[in-house]
Amino acid sequence: SVPLSFFGGIGGASRSGILVKGSSYLEALSKTDTIVFDKTGTLTNGSFSVTDIHPIGISERDLLEIAAHAETYSSHPIAVSLRVAYQQPVSTDNLTDVSEYAGHGVSAMYLGRRITVGNAGYLQEQGVTIDDGSKEGSLIHVAIDGRYAGWLRLADTIKPTAVQAVAELKRRGIHRIIMLTGDAPPAAAAIARELGIDEYYASLLPQDKVSALEKILAEQQVGRMAAFVGDGINDAPVIMRADLGIAMGSLGSDAAIEAADIVLMDDDPMKIISAVHISHKTMHIVF
Ligand code: ADP
Ligand code: MG
Repeated sequence: SVPLSFFGGIGGASRSGILVKGSSYLEALSKTDTIVFDKTGTLTNGSFSVTDIHPIGISERDLLEIAAHAETYSSHPIAVSLRVAYQQPVSTDNLTDVSEYAGHGVSAMYLGRRITVGNAGYLQEQGVTIDDGSKEGSLIHVAIDGRYAGWLRLADTIKPTAVQAVAELKRRGIHRIIMLTGDAPPAAAAIARELGIDEYYASLLPQDKVSALEKILAEQQVGRMAAFVGDGINDAPVIMRADLGIAMGSLGSDAAIEAADIVLMDDDPMKIISAVHISHKTMHIVF
């Protein structure tokens, strides 16, 4: 049988916009000393601004146009941001054969040409020689018919309360805080530094995030739990693998929400502090 206080805990949590899918998850959270975060959309706003455009052999406007069109059907934060930066509605009239590759980018036929948009690794896999000289921020590269057409630099911003949330978690006994991202090392380093997170892993494909988490789980002390917090479609397998899977955000993907043990109903990372607090109270742990 389950002590009554568990139900109080779940009820109290739900009134704070924290959905706990079973009483054992509050107990698990109270024993959590490691929290692994996905970066984009979880610790950062996930709305990138285009800060720099570096076209090769075409105009800035054309580079933005083909990138925005190739990204027409993608719901990835980078795709949304490229469409916003284009500032015009995209038209699907001249767009065919669109594919998206998780953790890589997109490929599409636009105006009779093969457009490839994505990170350095993805374009290199397609045999495109890219200019990787500029390492700051998140670079998205573009190729037309296999020929390099330049890059766009995207800048994300950390959520306003993320720094406080990280500091507060450490204060509450979560001594290991880790950030995972598919983004490139320079962008990851800058965000981690801003947040006060000293352990992070970058350039991870969705399956690499699962392996990174498995390694972290193997390092855990007996009886101590490791939670993962993410929001995206690609995060569902990692959410499922963690001792405690937490989905976050009003925009969280259905797959992430489905896979999670705990769902935080808004985008504020301080919601995790509330959840930890409720779990400690429920388990009568005093900090
Ligand atoms: P994260 O949420 O950690 O940033 P993702 O797996 O969603 O990780 O994406 C990893 C990287 O893959 C992105 O930083 C970007 O470089 C590239 N990428 C993924 N999807 C797209 C897309 N639709 N368009 C361009 N690049 C993409
Ligand atoms: Mg993500």
